[in-house]
Amino acid sequence: MTDAGNEALRVDGRVAAKAVRARLKGEVEALRAETGESPGLAVVLVGDDPASAIYVRHKVRACEKVGIRSLSHVLPAATTQEALLTLLDSLNADPAVDGILVQLPLPGHIDADTVIARVALDKDVDGFALGNLGALAAGRPGLVACTPAGVLEMLTRTAETLGEPLSGKHAVVIGRSVTVGKPMALLLLQANCTVTVCHSRTVDTAKHTRAADIVVAAAGRPELVRGDWVKPGAWVIDVGIHRRADGGLCGDVHADEVRQVAAALSPVPGGVGPMTIAMLLDNTVRAFRSRRGLAQPESA
Ligand code: NAD
Repeated sequence: MTDAGNEALRVDGRVAAKAVRARLKGEVEALRAETGESPGLAVVLVGDDPASAIYVRHKVRACEKVGIRSLSHVLPAATTQEALLTLLDSLNADPAVDGILVQLPLPGHIDADTVIARVALDKDVDGFALGNLGALAAGRPGLVACTPAGVLEMLTRTAETLGEPLSGKHAVVIGRSVTVGKPMALLLLQANCTVTVCHSRTVDTAKHTRAADIVVAAAGRPELVRGDWVKPGAWVIDVGIHRRADGGLCGDVHADEVRQVAAALSPVPGGVGPMTIAMLLDNTVRAFRSRRGLAQPESA
């Protein structure tokens, strides 16, 4: 993070992700010395969606950087749901596989909920399975969805940098999806924030964000959050990512306006995206440990 005059602190996801990878590299080396094994992540891609192929490549490369074995399974778009479920059964049974990631979206003839439900709970490194979401809601150990976990890590670092605790802050989450908004709200509750969730039927979202100490924008609406939506000094994390007509990228936050008002703002690109991948690696190392009955370190 860098301070730029009166502008908001930049909550740099690339810097945070690098710190997470450095920690994980050390942990993977120590685990290899202790057990003779290293964590393995199976990545399953169905079809030839170019964006998905790029995401998978980034994930595989990130694994290599920290010493996690990655095993890619690239299947044709015409793959049947039955064939995909059979592959998942064999990955579930394979002791060399600690984490399984099925890249979404899947082709239209495959039901994503059925596929997610087939991944063994202790290998569900995306944290999308109902058992892991339930564990999060109940405050029990489990694998937490990577994007909200990454946002919490970014907020924790912001709190350290600015010397203010997260505890007691009023956080507004914009969005209630099962993969981002809802787990985000639950994580912020665990961090002792007071949490409000806004969604497409909220009557006046700006009224809520103006009262917030923390805003997490995950609405999937380009530049929805304007400068006058934000309380001076608030911390704003932008989860959205959109391709503009001019080819550039923007988030759910109007960065030029909000930067003038907020105390901290995450950029797009270079914010939540890199942290999502870092937390996937973190979940894979966690899964390796819990599947072998090894304790999780305090810092992880
Ligand atoms: P989604 O479409 O599943 O959910 C969007 C949510 O926003 C819904 O709950 C909806 O009710 C709410 N919403 C929509 N318009 C609103 C409005 N005007 N006011 C208040 N709430 C509104 O999307 P998602 O999967 O949760 O993702 C959200 C955004 O985050 C997308 O832009 C997505 O591309 C991005 N995303 C980024 C990463 C990353 O790693 N950077 C990961 C996941 C999602």
